[in-house]
Amino acid sequence: MSEFLFLGTGAADWRIEDKGEFFRRNSAALINRELMIDCGEHIFDFAESVNNSSLYNNVTDIIITHNHRDHICKDTVLKLAQQQKIRVGCDRNIMNKIGEHSNIEYNIFKPFEGVRMGNYSIMPILANHDVVINGDSCAYHYIIETSDGKTIFYGLDGAWFLRPSWEEMKKHMFDIMIFDCTVGDNDDWRLFEHNTISMLRTMIKEIKERNILKDNGRLIASHLAKTLHGSHEETELILNKIDVLTAYDGMKLEL
Ligand SMILES: [Zn+2]
Ligand SMILES: [Zn+2]
Repeated sequence: MSEFLFLGTGAADWRIEDKGEFFRRNSAALINRELMIDCGEHIFDFAESVNNSSLYNNVTDIIITHNHRDHICKDTVLKLAQQQKIRVGCDRNIMNKIGEHSNIEYNIFKPFEGVRMGNYSIMPILANHDVVINGDSCAYHYIIETSDGKTIFYGLDGAWFLRPSWEEMKKHMFDIMIFDCTVGDNDDWRLFEHNTISMLRTMIKEIKERNILKDNGRLIASHLAKTLHGSHEETELILNKIDVLTAYDGMKLEL
């Protein structure tokens, strides 16, 4: 059995200062308490909110999707590295941003080259999202395989799948697939680097037709922008119609 925990499910427009009754932190996730996906400045606030100061004590590996401030915070990574040794999987740009540290070992990803990190196989595929930053940075989606044979697609941030990425996705059968749903039920310029609900509707139809989701597999939308969605319940109602679950901070899935 594997566990997938959402530490944050919001886009960059959710600010900790605006915390109200319902709140989304910047997007991040934790698999089996060992493998963290993205490491922004809100993750310790999540641990506090569930009264678990030891939540990250067993984290051995962190993989970073891309170099945007809602996904990577140097101080947060260094705070974790003060307590324990960690491997960080990322591109060279992010390694340079964090810098050398005696407790950090880097694994520099190359697109479509699978690597082993701890108990996980990681396949970084290219995301359709601000792909070039300062000339040598990538935005990645990840295909992650756990040691108990579960396959996870983590697709934040990004819009339409790039063709080579889709070709790689078709080689796998997924237990869960997590999609960017930043733009909600809107037409907004951000659809050039994020998904609207109608884009998800189209892509999910194709995913189902291609049969790349296991029988009990689940589809989940995350990275929801505060300014582009109604309430959680309103988004849930719309996404339920296309068999997509709406993620929330603290949502835990057993795979
Ligand atoms: Zn983001
Ligand atoms: Zn981004």
